[in-house]
Amino acid sequence: MLEIDRLVKSYSQQGGEPLRVLSIRRFAMAAGERTALTGPSGSGKSTLLHLIAGILRSTEGTIRLLGKTLEDTGEAELDRFRAAHIGYVFQSFNLLPGFTALENVLVAMRFGSNLSRSDRKGRAIELLNKVGLGNRLHHRPSQLSQGEQQRVSIARALANRPSLVLADEPTASLDLANAMRVFELLTNACEEAGAALLLCTHDLELAGRMERQVQMRELSEGGD
Ligand code: ADP
Ligand code: MG
Repeated sequence: MLEIDRLVKSYSQQGGEPLRVLSIRRFAMAAGERTALTGPSGSGKSTLLHLIAGILRSTEGTIRLLGKTLEDTGEAELDRFRAAHIGYVFQSFNLLPGFTALENVLVAMRFGSNLSRSDRKGRAIELLNKVGLGNRLHHRPSQLSQGEQQRVSIARALANRPSLVLADEPTASLDLANAMRVFELLTNACEEAGAALLLCTHDLELAGRMERQVQMRELSEGGD
């Protein structure tokens, strides 16, 4: 489902050599696979997720996702592709503050879903019920606990039945009890939906609970 080959991301620096922040020889994921990606802060985890989501463009190499080579795909098509096939869960939730839980999920479905308006609403409510927020549909983010906000963002990430969910340190801003609950919810929801999950974390204990663990270092090392 995902195949990464000789991927490099560099940033140009004023008056100097380009700064290489990521270099991955090969990385692949199968459909429905759940993988933890670990590495210290600054090792390029977020950069990799942004590249896979097509939010950032690679400097060298290729990312093939669901048969599409992202490097050969234009911006507008990439935006549509992302909305339809990728769910994203951020460390800091990234919910729209002026919108309710239900509206936050619905906004994500305006692009990338081919359901009718009323079916979208039905699905959004069903997802929010599933993450335990059936009685918080009309709460805004400021009226929700941190754990609840992250559960809204999980519902939002799954709204368009993505093939791949990218989660960037999704539990790092939660207390331990909430972190475990959100982690279980996220992994179970992806399993149930048949979505692959790539979860970045610096928490090795959390990573150890997933079926596959990969370290940034092993991806970057070796060359050939
Ligand atoms: P992680 O998520 O593992 O903590 P990041 O992917 O956020 O790591 O960052 C990897 C490296 O890329 C860091 O050293 C960071 O300073 C660098 N970096 C990120 N964005 C930029 C940018 N726009 N310009 C230059 N360097 C950047
Ligand atoms: Mg990061």
